[in-house]
Amino acid sequence: MQEEISILIQAQYPLIYLVTSEEERTERAIAMIAQNKNQQRRVFVWTVTHGIVEYGQSRHITQHNTVSPEAAVQWVIQQKEPGIYIFKDLHPFIDSPATTRWLRDAIASFKAAQKTIVLMSPMQQVPIELEKEVVVIDYPLPDLTELNQVLSQQLEKTKGRRTTTETREKLLKAALGLTRDEAEKVYRKAQVKAGRLTEAEVDIVLSEKKQLIRRNGILEYIEEDETIDAIGGLEELKRWLKQRSGAFTERAREYGLPQPKGMLILGVPGCGKSLIAKTTSRLWGLPLLRLDMGRVYDGSMVGRSEANLRNALKTAESISPAILFIDELDKSFAGSSGSADSDGGTSSRIFGSFLTWMQEKTSPVFVMATANRVERLPGEFLRKGRFDEIFFVDLPNKEERQQIFKIHLSKRRRDIERFDIEQLATICDGFSGAEIEQALIAAMYEAFAQDREFTQLDIIAAIKATLPLSRTMTEQVTALRDWARQRARPAAASVAEYQRMEF
Ligand code: ATP
Repeated sequence: MQEEISILIQAQYPLIYLVTSEEERTERAIAMIAQNKNQQRRVFVWTVTHGIVEYGQSRHITQHNTVSPEAAVQWVIQQKEPGIYIFKDLHPFIDSPATTRWLRDAIASFKAAQKTIVLMSPMQQVPIELEKEVVVIDYPLPDLTELNQVLSQQLEKTKGRRTTTETREKLLKAALGLTRDEAEKVYRKAQVKAGRLTEAEVDIVLSEKKQLIRRNGILEYIEEDETIDAIGGLEELKRWLKQRSGAFTERAREYGLPQPKGMLILGVPGCGKSLIAKTTSRLWGLPLLRLDMGRVYDGSMVGRSEANLRNALKTAESISPAILFIDELDKSFAGSSGSADSDGGTSSRIFGSFLTWMQEKTSPVFVMATANRVERLPGEFLRKGRFDEIFFVDLPNKEERQQIFKIHLSKRRRDIERFDIEQLATICDGFSGAEIEQALIAAMYEAFAQDREFTQLDIIAAIKATLPLSRTMTEQVTALRDWARQRARPAAASVAEYQRMEF
């Protein structure tokens, strides 16, 4: 990235917009570029509190009367020498007609001069008037090389202790996805806690990272104890996933395989869609990040929601290879293609940004999305090629219901032979996996309240007392099935075979 910015500066691009929340780090990177032998330039930094100050100088040595943004840009225009001018706080003013005009004047006056203005902002907000003139760059989070510097500095403080290359690599990978400051803090904390930085501290670094990621509120690190075998049925889907266990390895690249992009799991509520997504993380040995779309939306400021999404995706990319889990995709983007103007078009912009990201992403982030209602899902998601595969998870058939009973009974009791599982599976026709589990728990509560062990009869009574969703929402379930039969791949083996025979 540093090289790209350096090229833009050498090529005399007048205006570069860097999207970053790491001011110091980015500023330092630009100062390094400015020292380059071929293009030595002075660097000036503008803030709304001190006006223009030369990089590295004390804040008191400010250029006269440059606190207002207009005066600052005017000052830049007057300079004759080559220079790089970093504007840190311009984004709140950028929509003002005077600021935009001054920036356009500056751009026009830079034609023959080696001068570049760098706008630095945590969110992207470019007025239309400047769109053609500006290059927007999303400044990435630190990579392994940069984190290595941070780690080395921290390790120097623990003189005498050596770390193996392997430990070092683990400590570095554990901090991926953090800003430089955050990585410094995390390493320091791990060291203070344990008095050293060895392999044993990788977990401290990881758990600190999880907390930091959680604090920004949009991404959540999910850990799942269950394995994929805790899911009854869905054999075809499980096979597909197992087949791709090594999809993100170097070996797969060498073999010539493309990186999987993502999958969409459609289905009846409570049939294990979320559970599949969570257990895939264990199966593939990749971290699972849940993207909470509800939290992406923030109407407090224009551009805020976009910035939230961009930051979350940036974090996911820097942690990659990783799985990005989006539950209830239909709810997240509902309304984005319809009368979108109810929220000033934010949802359609967010939707557009997300689709573009999915289309263009080259980093190994596998998107796993689930949805219950297809009619609410923007058609663009369902187009061929957007996801690698769209699976449909139907209500479990009798055999699958038996498996689900077995799984949930074995989780709670050892002696499951005393239950007639076939009978249970027969009478709960139309139940989802979640409803089976709930019926079992209800039976256990009943017996527990009477201070005895639960029996077959308790489960039967609980099943009879349950009205499954497939019966209360028959129309919706039928509509989904009809739709999916044509367009999605069935997750269950039996249906898959049956469909294959049809072709
Ligand atoms: P929703 O659409 O309501 O989010 P979902 O399809 O994502 O539902 P899950 O949240 O994965 O369903 O299922 C809820 C719980 O039901 C699971 O945690 C699991 O305990 C149980 N369950 C559902 N389906 C199965 C299954 N096929 N095998 C075993 N357990 C299941």
